[in-house]
Amino acid sequence: SKAPVNVTVTGAAGQIGYALLFRIASGQLLGADTPVKLRLLEIPQAVKAAEGTAMELDDCAFPLLQGIDIFDDATKAFEGANVGLLVGARPRGKGMERGDLLQANGGIFKPQGEAINAGAADDIRVLVVGNPANTNALIAQSNAPDVPAERFTAMTRLDHNRALTQLAKKLGVSINDIKKLTIWGNHSATQYPDLFNAEVGGGNAAKAVGDQAWLENDFIPTVAKRGAAIIEARGASSAASAANAAIDHVFDWVNGTPEGDWTSAAIPSDGSYGVPEGLISSFPVVSREGKWEIVQGLEIDEFSRARIDASVNELVEERDTVRKLGLV
Ligand code: NDP
Repeated sequence: SKAPVNVTVTGAAGQIGYALLFRIASGQLLGADTPVKLRLLEIPQAVKAAEGTAMELDDCAFPLLQGIDIFDDATKAFEGANVGLLVGARPRGKGMERGDLLQANGGIFKPQGEAINAGAADDIRVLVVGNPANTNALIAQSNAPDVPAERFTAMTRLDHNRALTQLAKKLGVSINDIKKLTIWGNHSATQYPDLFNAEVGGGNAAKAVGDQAWLENDFIPTVAKRGAAIIEARGASSAASAANAAIDHVFDWVNGTPEGDWTSAAIPSDGSYGVPEGLISSFPVVSREGKWEIVQGLEIDEFSRARIDASVNELVEERDTVRKLGLV
């Protein structure tokens, strides 16, 4: 039988953690034949709550779950980690500037990058969920010089999934009819969900919509502001859908994406599509043999170019801020 895979989850006692851990333990992250060992990282005040979640995990008697360890020390939590899900982050407080937020998160993601560098397994794969996810991933990656940069990614899969459903509803089609949708740029309000390269039932998606006003004034803002709409409706932020997207991202990274389609993930840029090299930006990607590859050769029209540039410029500004702070 297969050796267990060590999965480290930070912010394990949080909302997303609660929605994520049971799915990992049930086999949905890596596949139904892969045993897992969970390594939960929390801040000291939240360790007790993480212990409570671990008790519930025990009570599920998941056949694939071979152990749960809880830590308040990043170095220990990432020892031997094969997969790192970096969920815990510093939320934006009232009156907090973007620079303050980046600095506070630097205090979390720099030591976590160092811990990954020091002790993670050779095949470590990292997904950053905690916001601002792209730049948090850049901080962790920059502080793990011995780990290939491509192993550090940030999540735009939830944006991708949100866009799929909005488009399917607009056209009255099934999710399965939609292919090749892309989220470009930053996981923030500037993100650009691209329908011009997407397909519906084999035809062009933007043409099928045939309504530029809907695309600009409805679709793009609905996808970008969905998180706020959920807080408004539910009285709490999206957690199950964020956890679901994290599962999708890692599952596809490990197991590959289907032929004839692609997905969206924020990965270190190789300079493709004019995105400065090294920025962790969302692209159309396929996963082959355990590696993300950027889909090449797509046509980017003027409208898309301006939207992508705006989001990428925001990533450049975030990178420059964390550079000044000495975090990367
Ligand atoms: P959540 O579990 O709801 O969210 C965790 C992070 O995910 C936040 O940064 C949040 O960003 C981000 N996120 C990304 N996408 C989404 C999405 N679609 N919907 C909602 N959130 C999204 O937060 P909780 O406060 O419930 O839990 C956080 C936990 O992390 C706490 O238990 C805390 O103790 C822990 N923590 C652990 C650290 C560590 O392990 N070293 C460090 C810091 C915190 P946003 O804020 O923008 O919503």
